[in-house]
Amino acid sequence: MTLDAKTKALIGQGQDVVNLTAGEPDFDTPEHIRLAAADAMNRGETRYTPVGGTPRLKQAAAERLKLDTGIDYAPDQVLVSAGAKHSLYNAVMSLVNPGDGVLLPVPYWVTYPEQIRLAGGLIEWVPIAPAHKDELTVEDLERAVSKKSRGLILNSPSNPSGAVIGRGHLEEIAAFCRERDLWVISDEIYMRLVYDGVEAVSIASFPGMMERTIVINGVSKAYAMTGWRIGYAAGPRSVIQAMANLQSQSTSNPTSISQAAALAALTGPQEPVEEMRREFDRRRRYAVSRIQTIKGLEVNDPKGAFYLWVNMEPLVGRTIAGRTITNADDLALAWLEEAGVSVVPGSGFGVANYFRMSYATSMERLAEGLDRMERLLGE
Ligand code: PMP
Repeated sequence: MTLDAKTKALIGQGQDVVNLTAGEPDFDTPEHIRLAAADAMNRGETRYTPVGGTPRLKQAAAERLKLDTGIDYAPDQVLVSAGAKHSLYNAVMSLVNPGDGVLLPVPYWVTYPEQIRLAGGLIEWVPIAPAHKDELTVEDLERAVSKKSRGLILNSPSNPSGAVIGRGHLEEIAAFCRERDLWVISDEIYMRLVYDGVEAVSIASFPGMMERTIVINGVSKAYAMTGWRIGYAAGPRSVIQAMANLQSQSTSNPTSISQAAALAALTGPQEPVEEMRREFDRRRRYAVSRIQTIKGLEVNDPKGAFYLWVNMEPLVGRTIAGRTITNADDLALAWLEEAGVSVVPGSGFGVANYFRMSYATSMERLAEGLDRMERLLGE
């Protein structure tokens, strides 16, 4: 947060900062989606919709989930909300009772621990062993599980690491959850953004898992629609109903116009998704190859999302531009203040000696940012 505020302040003062902190696609929402929203507005779709989303959008989300995960959900097993974050909130609030243990792999997306805390849950941290190269395994979970454990939050592809959990490991995690009778919230918001032919698998697709899993997805990342605020959840009817009740008395339906846009996104041409994915992939390969040549930085080849999760531990204890570097916070601050490039230190994601850099920016800016990072380390 501190770094983000500093970055924005510097940019606000007119300084040239290469911002590699973005958590959203740099592309505009595809045109046919924007037009669908305008049409809906002009047709008068400006009133309340059913709380959990329009029947057509719920149907479209169910069909999309079938294509992406192979799972058959009925429309009444789907709840549309104001972004995937809202879907997660409804799920956590509905599933977590005070004192319930919730297994949370580290690094984690910043929102998960805060939502668990809001529900009064007990966070059971699950550090991913370095040897597992950012990919969660049952071995990691076994070390953290306790008698209090009730559920697990999964995020594959991961923010911040970009790691995708392979089918084999996921199958073992599924067996672990069945044996321990755990529910799973599976945040699959980056599922469409995978590379090198890697398959993104939903844990809900394994036998006996659909009954204990809430799948979270949405249009924000795949369709470059972060500002429209449409996400959805799918799962057992009892949980989806509880989530809908909560939503009914808090936010009510998500925006009618955005729902029309999301319907066009899910049912319309999918080529724009593939075009964006290909461009992300080009930048990913470039950024990984650059980081691999910078002494002191280490990265696993991430197969999903649009982030690199970089280990800077070899630089700990070094002096850079007159500053002693004790962790990634120090390094990120040095890069921002001395070189004009901004990344997110790993402390926010639960790991002090890593940082996250986003490649959701133009190739030109990405190259400039990496040049600046490299130059400061070279000095
Ligand atoms: N889950 C993860 C892992 C994310 O990175 C994000 C966005 N940063 C979200 C959920 C939230 O998505 P939305 O914008 O649809 O609320």
